Amino acid sequence: APIVGVLALQGDFREHIAVLRSLGADARPIRRPEELAEVAGLVIPGGESSVMDKLSRTFGLAQPLKDAIRSGLPVYGTCAGLIMLADRLLDGINGQQTLGGLDIAVRRNAFGSQLDSFETDLEIPVLGDPPLHAVFIRAPVVEEAGASVVPLATLADGRVVAVEQGNLLGTSFHPEMTGDTRFHEHFLRMIAAA
Ligand code: GLN
Repeated sequence: APIVGVLALQGDFREHIAVLRSLGADARPIRRPEELAEVAGLVIPGGESSVMDKLSRTFGLAQPLKDAIRSGLPVYGTCAGLIMLADRLLDGINGQQTLGGLDIAVRRNAFGSQLDSFETDLEIPVLGDPPLHAVFIRAPVVEEAGASVVPLATLADGRVVAVEQGNLLGTSFHPEMTGDTRFHEHFLRMIAAA
């Protein structure tokens, strides 16, 4: 099985590793550039993107991650991970940077304190039936997307919460928390096809 890395600087990386292993992938936590160099795909988990940004630079991973993304490594970002993959961040704090790669603008904590966390069922054509039960936790939304970005899921109000663009996949929500493994299976297919 190909090695699938999960960025393990911060956030819910253990949950992603457990899901990927349940699907037969050789999933490993990634904290160093030498470890990143060995993977066939990478998940960037949920957590706090401003902290993940700082730690990625402290650990010397920011530039290797950008290089890997640009060279076509399949990368799947959930929630904070989606923010890390966005080319444009509409409301970063304290000089927060992203890795970029997805031609999108994201807004962090887009649902505000009234609706910090919520769950809903999403129709996701690329995954088929049944609808996916999605958990949102202080989640970002995609506010703008370039022509090469494919929206995979939208909320009832039309806001985009899952996207794919070439080697990159991103969701505002957390499929690693619900037991529905279809997004991880979709990502493993992207790795196999790369
Ligand atoms: N609000 C967090 C951020 O800005 C993301 C939350 C999450 O990953 N569940 O990074």
